[in-house]
Order: sequence, then structure tokens, then C-alpha cells
Amino acid sequence: MTLLEVQGLTASYGASQALFGVDLSVDEGEVVALMGRNGMGKTTTVKSICRMIPSEGRLTFAGRDLHAMPSHRAARAGIGLVPEGRRCFAGLSVAENLTAAARPGPWSMDRVHALFPRLAERAGQRAASLSGGEQQMLAIGRALMTNPRLLILDEATEGLAPVVRAEIWAAIHTVRQETGMAILLVDKSLKELSRIADRAVILARGRTVWAGAMTALSPEITQRHVGV
Ligand code: ATP
Repeated sequence: MTLLEVQGLTASYGASQALFGVDLSVDEGEVVALMGRNGMGKTTTVKSICRMIPSEGRLTFAGRDLHAMPSHRAARAGIGLVPEGRRCFAGLSVAENLTAAARPGPWSMDRVHALFPRLAERAGQRAASLSGGEQQMLAIGRALMTNPRLLILDEATEGLAPVVRAEIWAAIHTVRQETGMAILLVDKSLKELSRIADRAVILARGRTVWAGAMTALSPEITQRHVGV
């Protein structure tokens, strides 16, 4: 079943248009990679889906029109976002960050602690005192605590040391294997994306220019649109 459906999505920052027609969909249980070079509209697409910025076009989640809802309702429709730049409540403790996000479902504090033991060890510490990697774990933990039907990760491994990256990727694999959660991933690592994603959607200049099975993504297409 289609969980997220985006068609002809457009969005602007003031007078400057950033999206000109993004098409993408995520099925229940599916992992989709959203790819493209810097500045091509990936984060803007994510923000539009989460109703953090105004957009137009078709935007439905579990059959409901997200554009028809007030934006705060859309945030609770079942989309868990791990935003670019991993924003947590710096003054709150790790545990407080997690409980503030909690909504009923299979993901509880214990389960998040099992996924990221480091968060259990640092439960009483202020989020501001965590390392970059630990803050990213907390941002993922917070999103999971909302028990979303779709988890969106925007550059979750950006700027992290290789061993921490590996830990984050392992956790994403665990989330997928254990709960079959639908995931939309923005990341620069083609290698990691090809290990986990079922499909890829590529953006260039604010438009979808390619979509298909991850296994159908040829070196020519990645070279042209992703630049590796
Ligand atoms: P990156 O990987 O660099 O984050 P991206 O694919 O996520 O790239 P976006 O951040 O969505 O790209 O940017 C798409 C376009 O919108 C770019 O031209 C960018 O300069 C512009 N843009 C992004 N954020 C803003 C903003 N707050 N105000 C004005 N323009 C913006």
C-alpha cells in the first residue's frame, strides 16, 4: 500500500522557487533513497512533506491530504523526521528529550536504549553535552519515540566519524528488520544506500529526473545526477 505520495510538488523560499515538480512515493515497509547533488532540493522536499514550509501539489500520507491539514496536525500524522543538523532540546536531558517525543506504539524508551546503548548510559546528561554522533542517535531515538509509520532521515550520517557512521547505519538496518518501518533516506553514501534502499528517486534542479529500483541505478545515471 502506498504510504506517502508526492506528485508535482512545488515550493518556494520567498520569490525564489526551489521545487518545480517533485514526484515520489513510499510504500508501506519500503526504504526509498532520495538522491541528487547539493542544492537540488532534497531538504526542501523533506521540509515540504513535513509541512515545515509551504508547498503545492499532491501530498498525501496514508490516503490523507497533508496540505488540507493544519501543519501541526500533519506533523502528528505519522511521519517521524530526523532533520538535517540533528536538532535536539539542548537544555533537556537525554531521557527528557526522548519522553517529550513519546507517543504510544512499539517504540519505547527501553527499545531505543537497546538500539543505542549510549543513550541509556547518558540518560541524565544534557543533550548539549553529547558528541555529534550521540546527538544524532538522540535525534533518531526521538523520531522513533513518536512511533511513526514513516521515518525520514535527512543526512543522518553527515559529518560523523566512520565508526559512528557504521553504528548509525547498523541501527537503521535494525529498525528496518525489526519493525519493517517505511524509511525515506537522504544521504551521500551511495554504497550504504544501495545496501538498504529498495528504490531511488533522484532530484535535479528541484525536479524528479529519475526514479526506479535501486538495482536499476546505473553508473551512468549516478554519474550524471549524483556525481560520484
Ligand atoms: P544539500 O544536500 O546541500 O542540503 P538539497 O538537495 O537538500 O542540498 P535544498 O537545501 O533543498 O537542497 O535546496 C534547494 C534550493 O533551495 C537551493 O537552490 C537552495 O539554495 C535553496 N534554499 C534552501 N534553503 C533556502 C532558504 N532557507 N532560503 C532560500 N533558499 C533556500
